[in-house]
Amino acid sequence: KRFDDLGLDAVLMGAISKQGYENPTPIQCQALPIALSGRDLIGIAKTGSGKTAAFVLPMIVHIMDQEEVDKGEGPIAVICAPTRELAQQIYTETKKFAKPSGLRVSGVFGGMSKFEQFKELKAGCEIVIATPGRLIDMLKMKALTMLRTTYLVLDEADRMFDLGFEPQIRSIVGQIRPDRQTLLFSATMPRRVERLAREILTDTVRVTV
Ligand code: AMP
Repeated sequence: KRFDDLGLDAVLMGAISKQGYENPTPIQCQALPIALSGRDLIGIAKTGSGKTAAFVLPMIVHIMDQEEVDKGEGPIAVICAPTRELAQQIYTETKKFAKPSGLRVSGVFGGMSKFEQFKELKAGCEIVIATPGRLIDMLKMKALTMLRTTYLVLDEADRMFDLGFEPQIRSIVGQIRPDRQTLLFSATMPRRVERLAREILTDTVRVTV
C-alpha cells in the first residue's frame, strides 16, 4: 500500500513527504482506509507503530470535509491521551500535519497555566489534544464546548483506565454528540476497555498489528 492510493489532498501529501514518510506502516495500511471511510475503529497497536498518523491524517481529512470550518465554535476533533508526555508528542506530530491546512491545534494538558489555556481555547481551534483531567477542568470553566465535535480519538485507552481516568473519559464522551466518528487505540484490550468500546463505538472495525 502507498500513501498515493488514499486520495489525500496535495497539501496533506506535501506534509507527509516533508515528514519523510515514504510508505504507510502496517497499522496505517490497515487503519487509514477504514478511518477515512468514516467508520469507527479499534486499533490494537503500541507506540512506535505509527498509530498517531493513523488517526491524525483521517482527522484532518474529516475536518477539511466539513463545510464552514471557520464558523462555529469549539473543536471539531478531540484527542485524549493518558499522560502529558504522550499528549505533548501527539500535539507536536499533529501540528506538522494540521498547520499546512490552516488548522489550529490546542494542547490541553499540564505545562501551560490554566489561564493561558483558557485564553487560547477561547480564541478558537479545530483540534484539541488533551489529557482527561485538564480537559474536564477546561469544560467546567467553559473555556470550550464540544457541541461541534464529530471526531473523537481515545489513545492508549488501557493506560487511561490504569491511571483511573474511566469516569473522566465517560464524562467527556457523554458531552460529544453520538453521531461522531470514534477511534479507540489501545495496546491491550482488558475487559473494562472492551466494555467501554462496546458502549461508545458503533459498527466498529477492529485492526491489530
Ligand atoms: P507513533 O507510533 O505514532 O508514536 O510513531 C512512531 C514514529 O514513527 C514517529 O516518530 C513517527 O513520526 C514515525 N512514523 C509514523 N509513520 C511513519 C511512516 N509512515 N514512515 C516513517 N515514519 C513514520
